Amino acid sequence: MTRTARRTRPSKNWSLCDRYGDITDRHLAAVLTGEDVAQEHGLDPHTRSTCYVHRCWAHQCVFAPLHAIAATGHRWCRRCDCAVDVVVDETTTRSVHLRCPRCGLDPDTAVNRQLVRACRASIAAMRGETAPALYLVEA
Ligand SMILES: [Zn+2]
Ligand SMILES: [Zn+2]
Repeated sequence: MTRTARRTRPSKNWSLCDRYGDITDRHLAAVLTGEDVAQEHGLDPHTRSTCYVHRCWAHQCVFAPLHAIAATGHRWCRRCDCAVDVVVDETTTRSVHLRCPRCGLDPDTAVNRQLVRACRASIAAMRGETAPALYLVEA
């Protein structure tokens, strides 16, 4: 008697839900999944309150080299041509400030303001105070 092995499942059954299955904070996992789907349908990735790469709230990894993007100007000082420092206080004042380590100024550009808004939205979403605008359902 011979038995033939049958593969009924694909070798990798991937889905967006699985990507965040190991994250214990299910609120974060839900927003990550929602923003991934929304991004595929046109959400600007720079307005996200979560980070696809680092799998956390946007304000928690904004310091990572990956998020200083010379080409777009996000977290970048064009005057000095260098990455900009970010000061985030998620506890008391919940402030988000940019400061260039060379000229000491806040590179106040449209994309840097967008980055600050995304971080502030991220802090609010993490605390469950406000849902990202995308997920607001009007009754
Ligand atoms: Zn990140
Ligand atoms: Zn500068």
